[in-house]
Order: sequence, then C-alpha cells, then structure tokens
Amino acid sequence: MRFFVLQIGVGSSHETAFVPLEPSFKEGLTCPACGRALTEKEWIPPLRAELWARGEALGDVAFASGLDLLISERFLEAWRAEKLSGLHGLKEVEIRKVHPESAAPHARYHLAMAGYGMTQIDPKRSRVVREGEPDCLQCMGGAEVMLVEGMTIDEPTWSGEDVFVPWGFGACLVATERVLALQDKYGLTNVTLVPTEAFAWKRP
Ligand SMILES: [Zn+2]
Repeated sequence: MRFFVLQIGVGSSHETAFVPLEPSFKEGLTCPACGRALTEKEWIPPLRAELWARGEALGDVAFASGLDLLISERFLEAWRAEKLSGLHGLKEVEIRKVHPESAAPHARYHLAMAGYGMTQIDPKRSRVVREGEPDCLQCMGGAEVMLVEGMTIDEPTWSGEDVFVPWGFGACLVATERVLALQDKYGLTNVTLVPTEAFAWKRP
C-alpha cells in the first residue's frame, strides 16, 4: 500500500478553508499509555461554519487550522460508494456564509474526523527530528517534533483505515492510495496527496 499526506490544494482553483462558528468542544483523544492529550478538543454540535473559496470555486474538502475536515456531499457519497474507512463524525454542518458569496450558494458539507488507529511511522525509514527525549514510546510525548523530512509508514502496523493520524507525528493526516484512486475516479478537488516519503514539515 502506498501512503500520502493529505493536504489542502494551496493555490489551486478550488482551495477552500473553513472556520467553525461559536464552536462547542469536548475533550479530544488521550494517549492510552501516558494519558497526554493527543488531539485538540473535538468540535461537537451545533456545527456551524463559514467557508472561504480562495480560488474560483469551493472544493470537495475544506481545511481549518486543525485536523478536522469538511467534505462535500459529493465526497461523502463517493467515500461511501467505494466503502473507504477512517473518517467519522460525518454530520452535516450548517454553512452560515460563503466567501465570496458567488462561490456556491447551496453548499452542503459534512464534518469528517480521522483517528489514530494503530498505524505507526517507521523511525528507521523516516527523518523526524525531535527536541528533547520522549518519555512515552507510544505517542513520543515529552519531545517536540521540530522537523520532518520524509517518513515511511510501518506497514505491518497499519490498521486498515484509509485516512488516519499516524503515531509518531500527530500533526498530519495520512491517506492510502485508495483515496488517490477515489480522487481520480470522482474528480475530487482541493485534495493534495503528497507521498509520505516526500513530505516535509518544519515547526513554524
Ligand atoms: Zn503517550
């Protein structure tokens, strides 16, 4: 299986972002080994958002500052038809406003969240530079990732989800080649899939 980091299509004709409005939260996931908070708090209903089309039109995926996604009706139907797994939530979000208004007056989007599963990064075939010594080998907590220059998913640990957050670097979403095939088959927009081996990230 090939794995990709799922990112916003920066500069594309369908680059789309969202901001949750008056969000309510519940506690996010914690590490089963050390109890550290792993994800930002989870956004719970009522789900309301504003969308920004930065290109010519709204894309099939909208991104915010965290790892939550909004996916279009078309994306959700394709996802279900092809029986992919790993996204949960999948509740409709009330779109209060679209910027600019001409982009799509009847946009329908659904919240989509990915989880951790069991899948780990193979540290021997990845360059993940940390500051400090991790005190938890499950979440590598206690150390801060400063730089990533390519990473390889340890395939024997892959728990089968098509979108997931990998253990070892929790600041990205990883997607399988089945998501790439979905994108090609349905022409889904604002989905950039970078091979994990080519993925580069630096602490801002
Ligand atoms: Zn931990």
